[in-house]
Amino acid sequence: MTTRRSIDTQLVHAGEIRPGIEGAVALPIFQSANFESVEGEDYHDIKYMRLSNSPNHVVLGAKLAALEGAEAAIVTTSGMAAITTIFHSLLSAGDHVIFQDCLYGGTYDYARREFDRHGLSCDFVAGDRPDTWADALRPETRMIYVEAITNPLVQVADLEAVVSFAREHDLISVIDNTFASPVNFRPAEIGFDLSLHSGTKYLNGHSDIVCGAVIGRADLVGRVKKMMSYLGGSLDAHACFLLHRGLKTLGVRVRQQCVNALALARVLEEHPAVDRVNYPGLPSNSGHERAARLFDGFGGMLSFELAGGAEAAKRFEEAVTIPIVAPSLGGVETLLTLPALTSHAGLTPAERAEVGVADGLIRVSVGIEGEEDLVADFQAAL
Ligand code: PLP
Repeated sequence: MTTRRSIDTQLVHAGEIRPGIEGAVALPIFQSANFESVEGEDYHDIKYMRLSNSPNHVVLGAKLAALEGAEAAIVTTSGMAAITTIFHSLLSAGDHVIFQDCLYGGTYDYARREFDRHGLSCDFVAGDRPDTWADALRPETRMIYVEAITNPLVQVADLEAVVSFAREHDLISVIDNTFASPVNFRPAEIGFDLSLHSGTKYLNGHSDIVCGAVIGRADLVGRVKKMMSYLGGSLDAHACFLLHRGLKTLGVRVRQQCVNALALARVLEEHPAVDRVNYPGLPSNSGHERAARLFDGFGGMLSFELAGGAEAAKRFEEAVTIPIVAPSLGGVETLLTLPALTSHAGLTPAERAEVGVADGLIRVSVGIEGEEDLVADFQAAL
């Protein structure tokens, strides 16, 4: 009997070509658009960069599938490419999708503003109210789509209920696992059909490339891959190399980020200048119990509101010395952003109010810096 190896061992070794090519310990970059034909090859065996089947793509796919205990995986040119290619490969005109109500702004925007043009429709439901989901169900509903930890309110939906609801009503269950990362959560283990990532964030972890991933059932990943080949997007070989390199340290990075985020969340929760802290690692958080049961860690993302609102948020951003004020997340450096001005700027003020994104909400992507330094810096700025 073989035992499943720990995620840290898989991060380093799963999917690797051994022995290494010419003895190379690290997989080299295959900077070749096409590959020599071999005897007996048919059209489907052709190796060509757009088809995402170079050794750099294949090794990444095998590693990502192993990390989440899933059947298959592919890399994509961005997280949004993963999301939109899932929709366009698995849905047809006339289909309907049930979405969790608070999502990454790009996903929300796309569903709200572009679905119509493709003959698709959707409804939004509260992720922690499974009793209300059946109201959104239609004969043409094909998919239910949630985030493991939402952006930017870091809520944890009733993920087990999502899987059983999908099975009961014959829907494809899709989860954006970006915020949790495979270190903290592996959706296939509880029965999700597909998971996706903005690999730009934790998977790569160094804020230097944009990429994505789709992981899950082999039949579905195959359909997404086929559509990706039609649409023409394929992750460039150099970006594959950087993602591969970044992935190997995902475990140590994410664990440090979890430690730092919990320390900051505790400081913020106790400070009189802070009105509200969102972090699933705090026992006061409504998703805490569920996150503790499903996840191996609470993640490196938190958000908070200062009593002084948007003005105070701006002053806080100016006062901290370690964090960088920048959009995006999941890298080694701590970043601050006001989602109303960045990730959720595409929503109208009314839509932001509806999903609970206040103008003064500060989102923190906690990095791997020293815990004491970050705590001191936040305390001084508060
Ligand atoms: N999903 C989540 C949760 C995100 O935060 C983002 C980007 O911020 C995306 C998807 C989109 O990813 P990308 O920017 O790599 O296209």
